Amino acid sequence: KKITIAIDGFSSTGKSTVAKQLAAYLGYIYVDTGAMYRAVTLFAIRQGCMKNKTFDAQKLIDNLDAIDLSFKLEVNTNTAFIHLNGENVEKEIRSMEVSQWVSHVAEVSEVRKKLVELQQNMGKYKGIVMDGRDIGTVVFPEAELKIFITADAKERAQRRYLEFQEKGKSVSFEEIYTNVTERDHIDTTREDSPLVKADDAIEIDNTHTTIEDQFQTVLQLAKD
Ligand code: C5P
Repeated sequence: KKITIAIDGFSSTGKSTVAKQLAAYLGYIYVDTGAMYRAVTLFAIRQGCMKNKTFDAQKLIDNLDAIDLSFKLEVNTNTAFIHLNGENVEKEIRSMEVSQWVSHVAEVSEVRKKLVELQQNMGKYKGIVMDGRDIGTVVFPEAELKIFITADAKERAQRRYLEFQEKGKSVSFEEIYTNVTERDHIDTTREDSPLVKADDAIEIDNTHTTIEDQFQTVLQLAKD
């Protein structure tokens, strides 16, 4: 029987890596909800909602209807890339600028309402792995399997730093560490749907685990 799998946790814990592997293995759909919040953030930046280090949330709210999000499967991959008004923005949404604003955008209730609705619609197709912050608590409280991933913040920042280096992006470790901890703080303290482990979620700390070991653990849970 195909089920719904919710994977939540802090920034840069490797949630998306394990979620993607799991979906590919099970033949499920994979949805990266962080990419959706990032695409809305990119839209806000392009609309000029961020000026002089302040974010004009009302301006974004007034323009929410102009945002059309979709995931499109690329030929020869099992990954669907996020499209903002028809444009593939997978690369743009991973920038440091988007990372610095995204948690502020994700605090806006109107944004959450719009994205949660889209996510719940995608959930009608069973056989889905969705990762984010509020999947097990808000989007799919009835999910058959809920996983909550944590890891030490220094380790998470270090992994992200190596990723940036591999891509040839010049960002310092300090900058990444600051971003990761700031997002943790905003995500856990916001009023609307704060990041919290669902009571029935299984917690996995991957500070000292390899990607392969983590995948085996999660796969076992999905099979049970
Ligand atoms: O998963 P990722 O780190 O790309 O998510 C970026 C940001 O989007 C998070 O730091 C969080 O502020 C927001 N987010 C959220 N709810 C989700 C997924 C992401 O608030 N379900």
